[in-house]
Amino acid sequence: MVEFKNVSVTFRQKDNTVEAVKNVSFKINKGDIFGIVGGSGAGKSTLLRTINLLQEVTSGTLIVDGEDVTGYSGARLRNLRKSIGMIFQHFNLAASRTVAANIAFALKDSNKSKEEIDKRVKEMLEFVNLSDKAGTYPSKLSGGQKQRVAIARALANDNTKILICDEPTSALDAETTASVLQLLKEVNKKLGVTIIIITHELDVVKTICNRTAVMNEGRVVEIGEVYPVFTNPKSDFTRQLIAHSQDFAIPNQINEDIKGTLVKITYLGDGATKSVLSDMTKESDIRYNIIHGKIEYIGSKPAGILYIKLQGDKSNIESVIEKLKDNTYSTEVI
Ligand code: ADP
Repeated sequence: MVEFKNVSVTFRQKDNTVEAVKNVSFKINKGDIFGIVGGSGAGKSTLLRTINLLQEVTSGTLIVDGEDVTGYSGARLRNLRKSIGMIFQHFNLAASRTVAANIAFALKDSNKSKEEIDKRVKEMLEFVNLSDKAGTYPSKLSGGQKQRVAIARALANDNTKILICDEPTSALDAETTASVLQLLKEVNKKLGVTIIIITHELDVVKTICNRTAVMNEGRVVEIGEVYPVFTNPKSDFTRQLIAHSQDFAIPNQINEDIKGTLVKITYLGDGATKSVLSDMTKESDIRYNIIHGKIEYIGSKPAGILYIKLQGDKSNIESVIEKLKDNTYSTEVI
């Protein structure tokens, strides 16, 4: 659906040059909910904005829906933009227009009659579950409602094929984030729209994306299906990003008070819900204390991490660790 071929973007200023995107090549497939993650300044936003040519590429080629759109201008560019909706972190609604007028504005160059526009606006309001807010001004809406209006506006053109989302939930609280992500899932499933999201929130990617690219310093350092990228990252940068987001530290006091060998166990897929630990320790004379643990769901597949301290005879501990290694995704002594 979207293919970057050796895309670079360089900003030249008076006394310095910033290479924001460096020789990026990858494909986003039709039907994907694709997440581009990375820290601030990684080049995510610059790359995203090349898709609808809000940002010109310095070199390389951009293919959208099978066509090289890199040099598009005039009518061809306007048509391209009608097929690509965009939403933003801060919603970017016009404060002086009602909700309905904000959505209708997206159809001003559509050759539709006023009746057709009204009908489409009504349909979109129903889709985002805000029919009762048609005549309301944005200032009277919550953040989540504003983002719903922005989604309705972005999809108002009935030939919208791609929705690009620039940090769509970064200004929202956790509960509202969940409902906006659920709506984006419906956009993808029910309307068949390919969704591309940039975010610094790994949870967003874990919750709704099927594929992801990790960016650092202008380059894509890792790309793939979300589950393997998050559970078995190949690049050091991705490993650090994930470790940082797990934000795990055992308080010193607990570490000192509880004696034993500290072990980190990772369970993936079905293994995350098996009772491996109790089975292993029951067979030998070993006790364990759970220090910290969590199971999270990436897509709908579980991934679990457990930190335990083992107490008992040294050789029994060693044999339990060996058994755990054989029966879990990974077991390491910390
Ligand atoms: P991200 O979205 O990952 O935070 P950006 O794409 O916004 O990263 O920025 C990547 C780099 O490009 C940063 O160093 C940023 O300062 C720089 N940059 C972005 N836009 C411009 C611009 N219009 N002019 C000059 N530098 C820019």
